[in-house]
Amino acid sequence: MFTLTEDQIAIREMARDFANAEIAPHAVEWDEKKHFPVDTLRAAAALGMGGIYVQDDVGGSGLSRLDAALIFEALATGCPGTAAFLSIHNMATWMIDRFGDEDQRATWVPRLTAMEHIASYCLTEPGAGSDAAALKTKAVRDGDHYIVDGQKQFISGAGASDIYVVMVRTGGDGPKGISTLVIEAGTPGLSFGANEKKMGWNVQPTRAVILEGVRVPVQNRLGAEGDGFKIAMAGLDGGRLNIGACSLGGAQAALDKTLAYMRERKAFGQRLDAFQALQFRLADMATELEVARTFLWRAAAALDAKTPDATRLCAMAKRFATDAGFNVANEALQLHGGYGYLADYGVEKIVRDLRVHQILEGTNEIMRLIISRALIAQGN
Ligand SMILES: Cc1cc2nc3c(=O)[nH]c(=O)nc-3n(C[C@H](O)[C@H](O)[C@H](O)COP(=O)(O)OP(=O)(O)OC[C@H]3O[C@@H](n4cnc5c(N)ncnc54)[C@H](O)[C@@H]3O)c2cc1C
Repeated sequence: MFTLTEDQIAIREMARDFANAEIAPHAVEWDEKKHFPVDTLRAAAALGMGGIYVQDDVGGSGLSRLDAALIFEALATGCPGTAAFLSIHNMATWMIDRFGDEDQRATWVPRLTAMEHIASYCLTEPGAGSDAAALKTKAVRDGDHYIVDGQKQFISGAGASDIYVVMVRTGGDGPKGISTLVIEAGTPGLSFGANEKKMGWNVQPTRAVILEGVRVPVQNRLGAEGDGFKIAMAGLDGGRLNIGACSLGGAQAALDKTLAYMRERKAFGQRLDAFQALQFRLADMATELEVARTFLWRAAAALDAKTPDATRLCAMAKRFATDAGFNVANEALQLHGGYGYLADYGVEKIVRDLRVHQILEGTNEIMRLIISRALIAQGN
C-alpha cells in the first residue's frame, strides 16, 4: 500500500500529463467564463477516464479505487472542478454498471464510459440534503411505468447531462422506501432550473432537476424496489474518496505554485523561502497533504478489498482530505500575499473550488456522524 506499482505510477503520470496539457492552461479562463469543458472530458474518456472502475465488457477501464484516487488527484492539479465533475460521472456510471442488469448495462454504460453521454447523480432535494433518506420525490407505479413527481436540488451537470440517476420514493418513509431510476434527458416532464451562481466549481453547471409527471419505464429501475438508498450510499463511498483526492490535487498544485512564488519573491532583502517562519509553514502544508494522501490510499484499498469498515474509512478520508486540502490551499493564498487574491495567479480559484468539497457528497459534519455511529456501535 505504501509503494505504488509501475502500472500505478504510469496511470498517475498519464493523468498528470493530461492535466498539464489539456486542463491547467485553461482552468482560470473556464472558471471566469463558466465554461463546462465537455470536449476535454471526452478526451479524458478516450484515455479510459470515463469509467475508471467500471467493468471492461461495457467499455470501462476495470481499475481499482486506489488507481482512481491517483487519477483524480492528478487531474485536480489542473482544475479541481473539472476533475470533480468527472468523479460524479464515474460514480453514476459505476452505479449502473454495478447494480444494473445485463440489458441496462449494455443500454447505457458503453456510451457513458466513452462520455458520448454524460451522467448526473440526483439525491439532494430542497428539503432533504444531509437527511437524504427523507427525500420526497415520488414515483407511483402505473402499469409498466412509474410516474415521477418532485424536485432535485444542486445537481451537478444538470441540463447538460444525458443520463440522470435519480433516487425516488416508491414506498413508505425512510431509507427502505427509496428506489433508483435511470431517467434519460428529453423524457417529457423533465426540466431544469437556472444555472446556480456559485463561489467555485464554475466549470460545471449546477441546476435543480424538476420532475413533473415524468413517465419512466419500470425497466429503468436499478435493483429492486427499496434498494435505492443502499445503491446511492454505495456510490458515495467511492465518490467521497474521489472528492478527497480532488482536494489533494488542488492543494498540491497550490503548494507547488507557492514554492515557485516564494523562490522569486523578495521582502526585507531576502527571498520569501528564506524566512524560517514561512519554511515551517511549508513543512506543515506538505506534511498535512502527505498524511491525508497516505490515509486516503488506505481507505481506497479497504474499499477495493470490500472490508466491513470501508464506509467508515471512506468517511474519515473524505473528512480529513477535504479539510486538509482546503486549509493548505488557503495557506498558499496567504503566502502569495495580495497576489494570491488575484485571479491570474490561479490560487484563489483553487481555494474557492475546494471549499465546496467540505460540503458535498455528505458534509464533513455528516462524515463525523458516520464515523461516530460506527465507533459507538462497536462498543455496544
Ligand atoms: C456545488 C454543489 C454541487 C452539488 N452536487 C450535487 C449532486 O450532483 N447531486 C446531489 O444529489 N447533491 C449535490 N449537492 C448537494 C450536497 O450534497 C448537499 O448540499 C449536502 O449534502 C448538504 O445538504 P444541504 O445543503 O441540504 O445542507 P443541510 O442538510 O441543510 O445542512 C446544513 C448544515 O447543518 C449540518 N447538519 C445537518 N444535519 C446534521 C446532523 N445530524 N448533525 C450535525 N450537523 C448536521 C450540515 O453539516 C450543514 O453544516 C451539491 C451541492 C453543491 C453546493
